[in-house]
Amino acid sequence: MKKRPADNRKRKSTHALFWIIFLEVCVVLAGLAYLLYQTGRNRTDDVDPVTIEYSEIEKQTEEAAVLVPRPDIDEQLLTINAKSRPGESCKSIDYIVIHYLANPGTTAQENRDYFESLKDFIDNDDYYSMSANYVIGIDGEIIQCVPDGEIAYASNEANQYSISIENCHPSKSGQFTEATYQSLVHLAAYLSELYDLDRDHIIRHYDVTGKACPLYYVVHENKWEKLLDDIMAYREECREEALSRIVETEHPVDELTAFLESNAGEE
Ligand SMILES: [Zn+2]
Repeated sequence: MKKRPADNRKRKSTHALFWIIFLEVCVVLAGLAYLLYQTGRNRTDDVDPVTIEYSEIEKQTEEAAVLVPRPDIDEQLLTINAKSRPGESCKSIDYIVIHYLANPGTTAQENRDYFESLKDFIDNDDYYSMSANYVIGIDGEIIQCVPDGEIAYASNEANQYSISIENCHPSKSGQFTEATYQSLVHLAAYLSELYDLDRDHIIRHYDVTGKACPLYYVVHENKWEKLLDDIMAYREECREEALSRIVETEHPVDELTAFLESNAGEE
C-alpha cells in the first residue's frame, strides 16, 4: 500500500518530538548525575565525614549546649517565706556569685536547715534574711535551697540577677577543702554552661559589695584567678569529651539531642 505524503510528515514530526524529549531527559539525568557526583565528592574526598558531623553538632550546641554533666544535687527547697525564700523571680540570670559561710566547721545540711528555720522568725528583727541557691559542704555534697531564677538572700543587689553558691569550709582561713573545691568547679561549670555565662560573669560577693567573701579567695587573688581557670578548663574538658563521645556513635545528632534532654536540669 502506498503511503500518503501527509502520513510521512506526521511520522517525521513524531520522530523529532521523541528525540527532543529523549535529549531533554538525557540532559536532566546528566545534570542529576553530576550533582550527585559533586555531593559525594564533597562528602568523601574534600571533607572528612566526621568533621561534617562535628561542625553540625557544634552549631547545635552553640544554641542549647549543656555539655557539662549535671552534678549530683540534693534538692531540699526551702519553704516559701519572707526571710529566706520570698518566692520571687529574678530579673535575669547574668552572674554566678561565689560565697563562703562565715561559720567554720558547719555542714551544708546545718546551713540549709538554718535558712529554713528563718521562716519561724519572720517578725523578729534579730534574725537577718539569709539563704542561697546552693550550699556546698565540706565533703563536696551540694544542696539546692532555692531554684535557679528565684531570688535567694545572699548577694545583696545582685540577688536580682544572679545565682548564689555558698561554700562550707573547715577553718577560719576560709579555704575550701579539696572536695568542696571540686564540687564548686563542677557546679559553676555546669551552671555557666546552662546559662551561657562566661568567665567574667562568675564573681565573688566581694565584687558586688566589697565584703571579704569568700574570705580566702579575696585575700589570695591568685587563688581566685586559679579557681576561675579551673572552672573554665573543666567546662572545656567536658565539652570536648562529650562531643568526641557523641561523634563516635552511629547517629550523632540523635545522641546529642538525647544527651541535652537528659542533662537539661529541672527548669
Ligand atoms: Zn557572701
